[in-house]
Amino acid sequence: MATPEQAGVVVVGGGLAGGLLALELAAMGSPPWLVDAGPVGATALSYGLLPLTAIGPWLALQRRHGPLGLRLRLARFHGLPAGLGRLPLPVAQVEASTLLEVLPRLLDAAGVRRLCGRVLAPPRRLALGWRLEVTADPADRVTPGSPVCLEAEQVVLAAGAACRSLWPALPDGLRTSWAGVLELSQPPPWRMRWPAQVVLPWHFRRQELEQRAATLREPASIVDAGLVPTGTAWLAGQLTLVPPDPAGPAPDPASMEASLRQGLNDFGAVPADAAGAYRQVPVAFCTDGRPLVGPVEGAAGLWVFTGFSGAFSQVPPLLRPLATALASAAAQAGTPRRA
Ligand SMILES: Cc1cc2nc3c(=O)[nH]c(=O)nc-3n(C[C@H](O)[C@H](O)[C@H](O)COP(=O)(O)OP(=O)(O)OC[C@H]3O[C@@H](n4cnc5c(N)ncnc54)[C@H](O)[C@@H]3O)c2cc1C
Repeated sequence: MATPEQAGVVVVGGGLAGGLLALELAAMGSPPWLVDAGPVGATALSYGLLPLTAIGPWLALQRRHGPLGLRLRLARFHGLPAGLGRLPLPVAQVEASTLLEVLPRLLDAAGVRRLCGRVLAPPRRLALGWRLEVTADPADRVTPGSPVCLEAEQVVLAAGAACRSLWPALPDGLRTSWAGVLELSQPPPWRMRWPAQVVLPWHFRRQELEQRAATLREPASIVDAGLVPTGTAWLAGQLTLVPPDPAGPAPDPASMEASLRQGLNDFGAVPADAAGAYRQVPVAFCTDGRPLVGPVEGAAGLWVFTGFSGAFSQVPPLLRPLATALASAAAQAGTPRRA
């Protein structure tokens, strides 16, 4: 293997959390390295919805970086408590396809060193900092197809559901669920969309299921039936499956798809035989609903940023405090910053 590349901070994972954190660090004058295995995570398949009350930090990010995909939608809710009207309500959405399309350009312009590849194993401790072994993609611009060794003073694990495999000793409350959606090849029937652009359950059951994760003996799943436009596609979902073993294998896509189609059909959102591709991804969450943000206990210089319950609301306000904490920890360690 070639001589290790030297870095101040390496962020592992370039989805919503890692991508925006890398931009924030760059804005504070310390552009990190960003290692990302590609748009295979939860962000790429996300609805990207957030309450209107949470759009302030996104407006600030857009003022700084230009359009990131933020838009207003009208949502129709089903399963409303008695007494609540049926008028559609405004919600905000960050279109994941737009966000993931503009992020690489913004990161490059901000001086972030992007490495397209996969961190293969937990970081190894050095006298000062950490060593990471990365397999670079054949398409990587810097070291196409070659293994790369990175040495960093600080490493931030922002790799979503992969964080656990990158540091198995993370707290037990960090778990993984599997989310499944249908990407419809045609827009859903107009009667389902009218008079709104988004159809959602008033009450998502996903969070209740996630809170019970530690008590499960068998995989448990629910369908929170909804329809959400994103980019040029319509997503019909969402099936959530929580396995009892967070490190277990991926669930069988065929039976996941059958459960999702059945749930959508029962609700009347999408016929069971609707044309569309089934897609599923693992999603990190914390059983107490509070994300894991900050230094990893007993591993100086190793940080974690994952386990969100509403990532599009939670991530933006956490960026500045986390980037500031990283900078002050580096200053206290007294090590000269590497570029
Ligand atoms: C169908 C669906 C609907 C959703 N709807 C909403 C919603 O409306 N609102 C909301 O707030 N949240 C929603 N979520 C959840 C939200 O999308 C996720 O919580 C969020 O996107 C997680 O972002 P992340 O950056 O932490 O992880 P991810 O997006 O999973 O990103 C992790 C990144 O790490 C990279 N990676 C993984 N392993 C490695 C490795 N070994 N080396 C290098 N890189 C690696 C991956 O390539 C990926 O790019 C939804 C999720 C799904 C699936």
